[in-house]
Amino acid sequence: MHEKMNLLRELQEIDQEVSAIESTRAGYQQELVGFDKEISRIEAMVEELDLDLDTLQKDESQLQQELLKEQDNITKVEARLPEIQTQKEYVAVLKEIDLAKKANKEIEEQVLNKQQEIETLDGDRKEKQAELSAFVENADARRSELDALLSDSEKELTTRKGARDAVAGDVPSSLLRKYQNLFKRRAGLAVAMARNGACLGCNMQLPPQQFNSLYRQSDLQTCPHCNRLLYIDPEV
Ligand SMILES: [Zn+2]
Repeated sequence: MHEKMNLLRELQEIDQEVSAIESTRAGYQQELVGFDKEISRIEAMVEELDLDLDTLQKDESQLQQELLKEQDNITKVEARLPEIQTQKEYVAVLKEIDLAKKANKEIEEQVLNKQQEIETLDGDRKEKQAELSAFVENADARRSELDALLSDSEKELTTRKGARDAVAGDVPSSLLRKYQNLFKRRAGLAVAMARNGACLGCNMQLPPQQFNSLYRQSDLQTCPHCNRLLYIDPEV
């Protein structure tokens, strides 16, 4: 039984290393996914600014057209002036011109405001675009690092798994299954040391008789509280 426990302890050590490598790899992969998400997020913001900018530009060109129409109107009304016969009509036309000019000025102001808005938004867009470029550049550099780390850790994983399979091959299959179930259910600790009368897997006291029998190493002992396979280090 002593030898089997030694095999299981060896197996557990390798399995814990495998788990650690796998979780590190998962972290790298998550980081990669995070880059893609962040890039999509900034791209969506740039696209939104593009749409807003497009709307503002359309508004501006519409205002410019109105302005042309208004100016045309003024020119037409002014052209009528020399033909006017009466003072009353003359005053009325002047008033009309005056109103048209006022309207014109208002539109001009609106155009200026719109242009100001466009300029501001265009600045925001350029800023966002620069942010995106910088992020992509950094992400690409880190991505190469992560690719190398992933490839190295994959090789390491293959080596460890090979070692694990070699050790596992020497463990009887029913014991191996028991160990594997425990490893999964007990957060990567299937084989626990017993010391000072307690299981170090769950820190609960073992029945004294069971603890003593561990010294004989004659049969397989499991903790009555957490079910882990127990071993003792007679030196401790
Ligand atoms: Zn226990």
